[in-house]
Amino acid sequence: SLHYQPRLNARTRKVQGAEALLRWKNPLLGQVPPGEFIHVAEESGLIKPIGAWVLREACRNWMALEAQGVCKGLELSVNLSVAQLADPELVDELIAVLRDTRMPPAQLELELTESHLMDNPVAAQQKVAALKALGVKVAIDDFGTGYSSLAYLKRFDIDKLKVDQSFVLGMLEDSADAAIVHAVIALGHTLGLKVVAEGVENLPTAQTLTALGCDELQGYCFSRPIPLAEWVSYLRSHALRKDRRRPPL
Ligand code: C2E
Ligand code: CA
Ligand code: CA
Repeated sequence: SLHYQPRLNARTRKVQGAEALLRWKNPLLGQVPPGEFIHVAEESGLIKPIGAWVLREACRNWMALEAQGVCKGLELSVNLSVAQLADPELVDELIAVLRDTRMPPAQLELELTESHLMDNPVAAQQKVAALKALGVKVAIDDFGTGYSSLAYLKRFDIDKLKVDQSFVLGMLEDSADAAIVHAVIALGHTLGLKVVAEGVENLPTAQTLTALGCDELQGYCFSRPIPLAEWVSYLRSHALRKDRRRPPL
């Protein structure tokens, strides 16, 4: 199944969108975290049908919520695996999903991990260009862990960098982590990209990231990844909280 974790505008703290995260409930093993099964799915080739299901199901869920007026205009982020990135059918598959679900491409953001892009940067650059031509957004995930070549980074037609959570989690205690986060925000902005921090677990970290100019925040501080039904109530209560904070007319 899919869970959704909100991503907020750092300045306004309004929900900007959510990331779809895969969950596997196995009758014998219980809840198996994606960190344990994604690489197995990659090795066995099962990631292709799983990844295709994730893309279609997430867009379908999103448009169902749009129809109920719950998440008008909110962005949906979907993770793509290395096998999907290399798959020559990916672009056609995405065209079909956008057509069938009526998902507006500008509201869909595809997350590609830095190491996957840098595995074969020339091919990845072409694939990213083909995806961008459909009008979707592209973010580099786990940024800071994948030995990016800055020469390639400036050539990728991407929209966003997601600072890896390993730097964000301890940035208040570790000055080296804080310096890396600061440098990634500056690098992203210099290249005209938005910067998202993930792994934001507490308010002081959120405040520091906002002061550093980080654009968007994601983490347990705001919500854990939650099932679709809970996501609906999260959005409704978030909207109410925002309304209550407005000064009286
Ligand atoms: P990711 O894309 O970097 O996703 C963020 C992970 O950080 C998620 O773990 C999320 O639950 C966790 N997280 C969010 N906020 C916090 C926080 O404040 N603190 C901490 N400690 N962790 C936080 P999750 O859901 O277990 O997913 C792990 C990884 O599995 C994902 O990392 C992604 O690489 C992969 N994955 C998940 N769903 C999919 C999918 O549909 N397709 C593909 N290809 N990979 C997926
Ligand atoms: Ca991700
Ligand atoms: Ca990540």
